[in-house]
Amino acid sequence: MASPTRPVPFPDPFQNPFRNLLEGPLATLAAAFADLPPCNQPSDDAERRTAMAAVLEDVAVRMGDNYPYFHPLYAGQMIKPPHPVARAAYALAMTINPNNHARDGGRASSTMEVEAVAAIARIFGWNTHLGHLTSGGTFANLEALWVAGQLAPAKRIVASEQAHYTHKRISAVLQLQFSSVASDAAGRMDLNALEDELRCGDVGTVVVTMGTTALGSVDPLPEILALRDRYGFRIHLDAAYGGYFRLIAGQLDTAAHAAYSLMEQADSIVIDPHKHGLQPYGCGCVLFRDPAVGRFYKHDSPYTYFTSNELHLGEISLECSRAGASAVALWATQRLLPLTADGEFARDLMASRRAALELHRRIRQDARFESFPSGPELDIVVWRVRGSSTAQMSDRAQRIFDECAAFNLHLALVQLPGAMFGSHDAIASPTLVTCLRSVLMKPEHENWLGEIWERLSSAADRVLDLEQ
Ligand SMILES: *Cc1c(COP(=O)(O)O)cnc(C)c1O
Repeated sequence: MASPTRPVPFPDPFQNPFRNLLEGPLATLAAAFADLPPCNQPSDDAERRTAMAAVLEDVAVRMGDNYPYFHPLYAGQMIKPPHPVARAAYALAMTINPNNHARDGGRASSTMEVEAVAAIARIFGWNTHLGHLTSGGTFANLEALWVAGQLAPAKRIVASEQAHYTHKRISAVLQLQFSSVASDAAGRMDLNALEDELRCGDVGTVVVTMGTTALGSVDPLPEILALRDRYGFRIHLDAAYGGYFRLIAGQLDTAAHAAYSLMEQADSIVIDPHKHGLQPYGCGCVLFRDPAVGRFYKHDSPYTYFTSNELHLGEISLECSRAGASAVALWATQRLLPLTADGEFARDLMASRRAALELHRRIRQDARFESFPSGPELDIVVWRVRGSSTAQMSDRAQRIFDECAAFNLHLALVQLPGAMFGSHDAIASPTLVTCLRSVLMKPEHENWLGEIWERLSSAADRVLDLEQ
């Protein structure tokens, strides 16, 4: 059995050593409004306090019914705890509850949004851009494809089979034709399949995924850019998951490095600060290289406010009300951890990457498992459990997943075509096989990998022993 010890500390959200950090800043913020007549708040309404405490106890009981997302033994889906400074800044902003629809609703937080988004654009080499935060990657992608559709309404959107399913649904919402392009054995867009589509002459936009959701694979951007020179189309980068890896591109494998190095040549980019950017949910980001696409957003609503001549975020966003607190949290995080190639933020991404390489190495050497042949491109590891049939492999993966969860190691499952594991056996076919998957996006995962492996290994032993 795996030892129940905690080998390495991790940021425990229940014992936040920074919990008193807000006392000074709260007083500073209150002082900014000191010229107002004081609020007549009852100093201590004991009854109300008791009632609220009881409700919060109920909330705590309900919230206990969750996977331990904050813990390094949660290594399943794309879930990363927000940074303590993001939580604190978000809470501080909630005293004001700004609305970044327009400067009237959130004057300071709108400026902070503009600054934070410009810092993200600079990761991709853009000194000018049009962009803003969104509620998440889905809405950010929707805006990018909406602009694509405004520019070429009769043309198709194409994305790879491994692209996020949201693109197909978004295209349907926008009433744009959508086609799926085959992906290769590494989970990247297949260039021959793409060129077949391009020869039809009606492709308006190619969605290039920089870090697919299932595998973290990076589509071949250099070759797709070369095809753009020949066929002419728009390139949208869905970097919702993988965008931040641009900071450590030089330390990725050759193909991924080449793709990341050319991101500035895209027309639009989506990145999710609430995925790898240490933010609470409700924080996506869309960027356009050409600020002139702002013309499509133009509206002349009689009920928005126009007290400011400055950039009006409501005029360049499809969503109206948006959480100003999200912008404040992002701004604070980027101030503490600047988005530079040599900073702490980039070093933490490297730790995730090393954790993934180490897990992949162990799986490759283990007779019970079969590693994904091309290995992880980012920090997502996928592997198959060996068996004599697709059904047996899938069944074993499911049972190991359950057994791990029973011992507090939380992995994920993904279904992939058997052919992605090569054609060396009779199983290689379009049949889907259930695989185990682990997203190692917390920096602590590197130091916890021994513990993770021990739990996975003993869970696999128990499942396979039971079959004897
Ligand atoms: C997560 C993800 C999305 C969807 O973003 P949400 O923030 O969940 O709405 C889109 N594309 C990719 C590649 C993703 O990983």
